[in-house]
Amino acid sequence: ADLVLLLVDGRVDPTATDKILAQVVRKAGKPYVLVINKCDYQMIRERAYVYSELGLDDLFPISALHGSHTGDLLDQIVDRLGLKPTVSEPPEESSLRLAIVGMPNVGKSSLANALLQREQTIVTPIAGTTRDSIDTHLMWYGKHITLVDTAGLRKKARVTESIEFYSNVRTQRSIHTASVVIVMIDAEKGFGHQDKSIIEMVLNKGKGLVLVVNKWDLIEKDSKSMLNFQNEITRSFKSLTHFPLLFISAKTKQRVSKILDIVWNVNTVCNQYVGTKSLNNWLDRVTKEHPPPSAEGREVKLKFINQVASAPPVFVIFCNYPKKISVSYRRYLENEMRKEYSLSGTPVKISIRKK
Ligand code: GDP
Repeated sequence: ADLVLLLVDGRVDPTATDKILAQVVRKAGKPYVLVINKCDYQMIRERAYVYSELGLDDLFPISALHGSHTGDLLDQIVDRLGLKPTVSEPPEESSLRLAIVGMPNVGKSSLANALLQREQTIVTPIAGTTRDSIDTHLMWYGKHITLVDTAGLRKKARVTESIEFYSNVRTQRSIHTASVVIVMIDAEKGFGHQDKSIIEMVLNKGKGLVLVVNKWDLIEKDSKSMLNFQNEITRSFKSLTHFPLLFISAKTKQRVSKILDIVWNVNTVCNQYVGTKSLNNWLDRVTKEHPPPSAEGREVKLKFINQVASAPPVFVIFCNYPKKISVSYRRYLENEMRKEYSLSGTPVKISIRKK
């Protein structure tokens, strides 16, 4: 974690567990706030000082139930983390961690090798930690990209029974540590339910996604082949229209040179912040063009929007009756937002809250 909130019960004295946790927090050397919850009344708030015995500097009495001082706590959190919520911050040059995942034999190792062998790609040997030894760092037109778990791509599991389990755990771990994930699909086999479940893993973890159909050299093609394949994918997984799709051959290297460009753009989109003013102009326009249906005779208003996180982008919209916003209206908002801000390749979360 970047920040620890140690939460204790303000109605009682510090417990043995609080003391142990306080010790853990102190030793961790991370920024922290000691949050004294259940301070519902002034009287309880006044006795919060008993917690100074835990030896943690920053005491913060709140009531999660009544919401008192939670706004101040949020300010503290933002402060401690040094966050500037609405300022656009480009991603760190070295922050692109790329994972290549997909079914066994789809061509993951072939693609990894093809990427590493390209002329513009300089592999930088960084010795040391365990993690470095399984990752490959490459320079691509002056930019750093880390190819996650390259060792895993090269090594095949030896014990036959465990391949499925082994590759599944491996896939999950790669996705977890990556910022952008290439999911490879076998052109000959078509888009299957296992491809779908890998993609779900990527999206659930909020990672950038690029779809790559490999072994395109083996397909007898006509002018409609790509479109047909694309339709096959989006028919079974509708939201994949929002993610880049590329048809390649790791063997002949067809279109391999385009991949890192697309991956880099996806990473930028995942990390970007949209300014609050622009977002609110957008919200104003789309709700005028197509207002949310009123609920039981009452007008439903979307009042204000703000982006609160990136990678993946999370937007909060304040509304008088959030529960009355239908799934289809949410979809409308997401589609319009994706169009306006070219949010291709990233999952987007829109949270609608009461105000
Ligand atoms: P992995 O298990 O996903 O890492 O797959 P590999 O990279 O080991 O590839 C499995 C097999 O597919 C190997 O025999 C590769 O030579 C072959 N292969 C990989 N990519 C392509 C491709 O684009 N076209 C063709 N024809 N064969 C490929």
